[in-house]
Amino acid sequence: MNNIFLKTNFVIAILLLGIIDITHAQSKENYQFTIDLTKVENDELTITLTPPKIKEKSIIYNIPKVVPGTYSISDFGRFVSEFKVRDKRGRPIDVERLDMNRWKISKPKKVASITYKVADTWDSEKENVIFEPAGTNIEEKENFVINTHGFFGYFDGHKNNDYELTFIKPKDFYGSTSLISNTSDSVKDLFVVDSYMDLADAPIMYNVPDTTFIDMGDAEVLVSVYSPNKKLTSEYVAENIEEILEAQRKYLGGKLPIEKYAFIIYLTDKPSLSGMMGALEHSYSSMYFLPELAPQYITQSIRDIAAHEFFHIVTPLNIHSEEIHDFDYIDPEMSEHLWLYEGVTEYSAGHVQVQYELISFDDYLSILNEKLNAASAYNRTLPFTEMSENCLDEYADQYGNVYEKGALIGLCLDITFRDLSDGEYGLQDMMQDLSKKYGKNKPFKDELLFEQIADLSGYPEIKDFFDKYVDGSELLPFKEVFQKVGIKYSDSTIVKDVTMGNILRSLIIDQDSNIVISDISEMDSFGEKMGYMQGDIVRKVNGDTITLATAVEVIGTLRNNAQAGDTLTVTVERTLKKENDDATKTELITLEGVMQVTERMEYHTFEIDTAMTERQRKILNSWLVPDKKG
Ligand SMILES: [Zn+2]
Repeated sequence: MNNIFLKTNFVIAILLLGIIDITHAQSKENYQFTIDLTKVENDELTITLTPPKIKEKSIIYNIPKVVPGTYSISDFGRFVSEFKVRDKRGRPIDVERLDMNRWKISKPKKVASITYKVADTWDSEKENVIFEPAGTNIEEKENFVINTHGFFGYFDGHKNNDYELTFIKPKDFYGSTSLISNTSDSVKDLFVVDSYMDLADAPIMYNVPDTTFIDMGDAEVLVSVYSPNKKLTSEYVAENIEEILEAQRKYLGGKLPIEKYAFIIYLTDKPSLSGMMGALEHSYSSMYFLPELAPQYITQSIRDIAAHEFFHIVTPLNIHSEEIHDFDYIDPEMSEHLWLYEGVTEYSAGHVQVQYELISFDDYLSILNEKLNAASAYNRTLPFTEMSENCLDEYADQYGNVYEKGALIGLCLDITFRDLSDGEYGLQDMMQDLSKKYGKNKPFKDELLFEQIADLSGYPEIKDFFDKYVDGSELLPFKEVFQKVGIKYSDSTIVKDVTMGNILRSLIIDQDSNIVISDISEMDSFGEKMGYMQGDIVRKVNGDTITLATAVEVIGTLRNNAQAGDTLTVTVERTLKKENDDATKTELITLEGVMQVTERMEYHTFEIDTAMTERQRKILNSWLVPDKKG
């Protein structure tokens, strides 16, 4: 009896398990995507989808028009072709392309498979080039940048189904991502994700890997670098960002709100199609597209950008509005709080570095000076909330100001809070109060945020700041704000010094690693006497050869030692048009002049008040010295 009983139980168990298994396989509530990276044809990849069960009479399949973080229209559907829908016997089912990004399928119940081809955005000669960190790269046998929103879509009303992604990969390739693979072997990876939002939030880069893991105790951080000429390694990058990440952890109160994070870095030895370089943030990773330069020229940029992107784990990930929470990839509503998502993030990325002495206070003031100068080029009286809400269309050209004025709003808010609280409460405290009240799954209402902050912080007066300077069109009160921390700020001053002609800020590195004078509009009277021209390649300064490797030292030494009366010689390579002819020729020209004290205007300058009061010193210290509470 016992035996039989056991056997019966066993059989029932098998039956039950079998049934559960079959039910799971047949219910097909999930999207099953397969993408074979070993089969690139005409620079395209084929996507195969076994769709979830759909009961609707007809259904629309969407590929995003806009993705979070880019704040611009991308139309990823433009890169999709040969969209085919078939039933289980392989017969075609009617499908109509409604616009660039949407396909209407007539009998979704009968659909067994959908296939389509995707071309990459990085080398497609189309208008409206997509910012590379948000785009896609298909480089056969070399590298694939899978920004998932560029390859995979969703059906209306089915954004919250599970996604199962199978990647068939070339030999020795590894997929760098924040996603945790469910199964993985030498030829295949399987990722399972909860929803389209989570999928679109996780880029993957496939290539022969160069990866380093940073163990941060409560979080594991992956650094993955693709450097075509092996100029930079993941180990080097990891060493350089680790101290910043540590400082950021302390800055955030000692605990990171993540368990895994991935820095996915693609370095390019070619010019970028979009004309831009940079990174795009996600909740648990960030994707970089940067020039492949020798470590000494790119390290500080990587540190700055990584600090910015990493801080996005606070906002919008954990503090965001309803518009961002349930993001509409086809017709999104923009939140009015870009000052928070981008501005506070950018401010904190600089502030953490000065607080934890990773940069000097002088360097930090130079960063603020650059931001003040850059912000002046934008519409200064446009309320930031209005720009934010309309940054996809009407104010698209004002968006860049989120990194300038947005960060300066963060700065003014921080010091204003510290002044109101006698040094006890700053912007980070406000962020922590917000993240306690809201969270990844608890968005705030856009129109109530300012009131909420006034309420949560315990400083209702701060509402006035938002009304005037963020929601209103008043100019930020820099003089008043800096005065609170004992710094005399002036929007313009005449300075007298010995210069090379005030061209140093316009020096750029071109594609062939030459040092080029890119702009002469800021040149001073000595520069005019020297006769620099836009486009001149600097070859020698006072007889010393200028290359990427020597420029900083040669020019730096000259700057520190130059005296009025010294002779300056600069040899430039200049491209000239031949007479009567469209052809050009290049010539080496030596420019010479006697250096002299020159007057020029300097904008947005700071001077530390040597006679600052106790009170000012207290607020200054509260701003610059890390909070002991953390
Ligand atoms: Zn950002």
